[in-house]
Amino acid sequence: MQTRRQFIKTAALALPAMSLASILLSSCSKSEIIAPKKKLKVGIIGAGISGLETAKILFDQKQFEIELLEASDNIGGRINLSESVFGSYNIEMGADSSYGDQNKWYNMLRTAQTFETNSKSPSSFYLNGSALTLNELNKDSDYLKLLNSTQDISAYSGSNEVSVAQYIESKNIPERVKFIFENRTEEKIGTSIERASIALNSSESLSKIDANMFHISGNNSQDILYREYGSILPYVKNNTAISSIDYTGSKVKVRDQNQVLREYDFVVLTVPVSILKLQSNEINSIQFSPSLPESKIAAMNKIGMDGAVKIAIKTNRKFWHEDSKSIYTKGKIGKYEVVSEDPANNSYILTATVMGAYAENELYSMRESEIMTLIQNEWAMYIGTSASDSLVSCHVKNWSKEPFIKGAFSYHKLGGEAETRKELAKSVNSKIFFAGEACNTNKNSGTVHGAIETASVVCKEIIALAV
Ligand SMILES: Cc1cc2nc3c(=O)[nH]c(=O)nc-3n(C[C@H](O)[C@H](O)[C@H](O)COP(=O)(O)OP(=O)(O)OC[C@H]3O[C@@H](n4cnc5c(N)ncnc54)[C@H](O)[C@@H]3O)c2cc1C
Repeated sequence: MQTRRQFIKTAALALPAMSLASILLSSCSKSEIIAPKKKLKVGIIGAGISGLETAKILFDQKQFEIELLEASDNIGGRINLSESVFGSYNIEMGADSSYGDQNKWYNMLRTAQTFETNSKSPSSFYLNGSALTLNELNKDSDYLKLLNSTQDISAYSGSNEVSVAQYIESKNIPERVKFIFENRTEEKIGTSIERASIALNSSESLSKIDANMFHISGNNSQDILYREYGSILPYVKNNTAISSIDYTGSKVKVRDQNQVLREYDFVVLTVPVSILKLQSNEINSIQFSPSLPESKIAAMNKIGMDGAVKIAIKTNRKFWHEDSKSIYTKGKIGKYEVVSEDPANNSYILTATVMGAYAENELYSMRESEIMTLIQNEWAMYIGTSASDSLVSCHVKNWSKEPFIKGAFSYHKLGGEAETRKELAKSVNSKIFFAGEACNTNKNSGTVHGAIETASVVCKEIIALAV
């Protein structure tokens, strides 16, 4: 004899024209009727990589109705392609690489053909008028001192009040080579070395100093995102900036800046921590009713997200060593990545990212032409006229001026606590969930793959609640 489940299965296969609902009805007594479960509605706020990944995981579950509410007119957030820069180049002005090859972001980049660099890749180092290759630098006694004395950086376990700058100072690194280390650390922490705690960032961002980096090369980030997240793009509502979230009732009420009200069973917030931290009187802040728990607000305040300016530079000559992937020089803008070489057209593209105090206090107020003059002067002083004369133009993206991003990526401030990110990531009332790079509790904050990881964490929680 067939069980009821077997009957339904056989009937559904044998009678495709018959609706499953009518089979269910005919096979059940009235008291047994099982209404098809209504899909739970999830509102995902922010269509950066963590929002896109959250939406895709829940969509693939088929038991949720999803909506992705994005303030800007695009997707990707801090993964951002600028098209037709200098007339013909597509340049990644946000994240352009994966740290390591054991993560989902790397898998996505691999299909786009990537190239690898790390701190041991060929580079050109300009030290007091000499241009050294990495092989030459590796024989330099000052540089060897630097490497030896900073070996313990990713395991530092002193006071949370000691800054990365104080750590560097305590190591007596020869002045001549200190800037190399400072540049490497600042780009990993996302701010000035004076502002970040060494103990709290050591096993997170600073442990990536020697990571293998895989850069987007063949395709661009937009192609990569559209390929990966094509199935959920119809559910993205662009130009929908959320201004308030009311979770007093059984449904979460979400209002956007045009006063449109939407209701959800669950809400996942993936906006940058800089947006969450905005005070109620600041533009683009989100009001919560009731207020978020004090412990979460305290956690947000221990996390920093500071200014960042990314600069693309076009030169008409290659002044660096043949196979160099990076250029290090003294100066306020001290590290450049080589992203494109087109000798046939005498056209070369470099990028540089400046984060923290110098970006905020100096670069923000400069026009593109003034930044170009600054670079020209620095190159003339530290590299030579072959470099400064080669500069053709530059293109600047100021991440702090992005109204719904406002900065680079999260880091632990001085005096913070190790548990801060756990508190930041905690859901509230099993209704509001938090994802995004700052909520990564797996030591991968401030990265694309770290943001992706937080999506799986919140989805697991939501799926468990929905069962
Ligand atoms: C210059 C730069 C270079 C970087 N380079 C790398 C790199 O090479 N490799 C790497 O791994 N990481 C890099 N990072 C870090 C990486 O880009 C981020 O960690 C990651 O992209 C963050 O993803 P997310 O989803 O957490 O946030 P986001 O990408 O910031 O997405 C959040 C989204 O929320 C939206 N939003 C904000 N407020 C609202 C609102 N009120 N309503 C609706 N939507 C809202 C925003 O518009 C945004 O689209 C870089 C970052 C910067 C700035």
